This record gives sequence, structure tokens and C-alpha cells, in this order.
Amino acid sequence: MITNQQFLSKIKGFKLEGWIKKAWKRLPAEARKVLLNLWTKKELEFSMIPDFDKAYKKFHRCNFIAATTTTTTSEFMFSRFMFNEIDEPAGIAIIAHELCHAYRYAKGLEASSLAKYKKARDGANAEEILVDKTIAKWGFDVRAVNIFFELFKIKHDPKARAKFEKQVNAEVDRQLCDFKENMNKEMGKLAGKFVAL
Ligand SMILES: [Zn+2]
Repeated sequence: MITNQQFLSKIKGFKLEGWIKKAWKRLPAEARKVLLNLWTKKELEFSMIPDFDKAYKKFHRCNFIAATTTTTTSEFMFSRFMFNEIDEPAGIAIIAHELCHAYRYAKGLEASSLAKYKKARDGANAEEILVDKTIAKWGFDVRAVNIFFELFKIKHDPKARAKFEKQVNAEVDRQLCDFKENMNKEMGKLAGKFVAL
């Protein structure tokens, strides 16, 4: 097992050092132990990728952050593009999410390859949901991540933005329509009053 100190020296100077430390401290002691144990046998790596976004066509949060465990490495990649914009609660929760992937791997809890096959087939991802459920139980703010990513998508993904604009326009149209109807009613009432006078 590597020591806590060895882990801290591994992230020293990394751009997200502060947030990784905060996430790390808030993990349950058992999870920290499992990870320190995992990293004894694997090369631990943290990296910040400048152009993570451009490598993928599909705009999904998993394309901006990744935890990969192989037989020899335990790797965490973060997109600078995304982390330049993210706020602290969401940033810390996302880091905890990635650490949780490694934790679940180490514990042999990862959703089966059948689940992964299903993901490829219908887009649902059992493992992601289980990771989020676990970190929510650990007290991390999963909601902050979801809210951040929805806004991030609207800002950067033309498809998401077009969908959002359509929704906003429909809502404005609906409100204008209500307004017009109320206005007509009010005018009708007023007209009635004047006639009565
Ligand atoms: Zn994930």
C-alpha cells in the first residue's frame, strides 16, 4: 500500500491539486485505503488535456473526464476546456466521481460487460449511474455536476443550444399568447363597464 503522503506528493503541482485534496479528504476512509492499495500495484497518473473536447464528436460529459484502470496503470484525465469553467462544488464532485471509478474497479464492483454492451446498444450507462449513486451516498454534490454540465452543453454544443433555444422560444410564445388572451379579457370587461356607465 502506498502511503497517504506518497499519494499527496504524486498530485503536488498538478493544476487541480487543491480540489483533488478536498475530494480525497471527503472520501470514506475505507475508499482511501482501497485506492492506496490499488496504486501500490499500478502507475498513478493525473493529466490535464487541453483539447479533450475536439477528439470526440458526441458531446457527453464522459468525453471531458476519464478514469482508466489497466493492468499496469491507474490514470485520470481532465479536460482543461471544461475545468476552466467549472465551479468548485461541481469540480470536486467530478473528481470524486473519477476516483470512485477506480475504487469500484479495485473492489470488483464495476458493472458487467453485459451492462457495457447494453450501454453501447441503447445509450444507458449502468456504471455511471452506480458511480453517481455511490458518491452521492459519500456526500458529494452530484446535482451541481449535472447543472454545470447542462449549462456547459448549452454554451458549447450547437445541438444542445438549438434545442434549448427552441424550448425558450416556445415558452415565450406561450406566455405572449396568455398575455394576449388576458389582455382581451380585461379589455372586454372594461368595455362592458363603459357600456354600463
Ligand atoms: Zn464516469
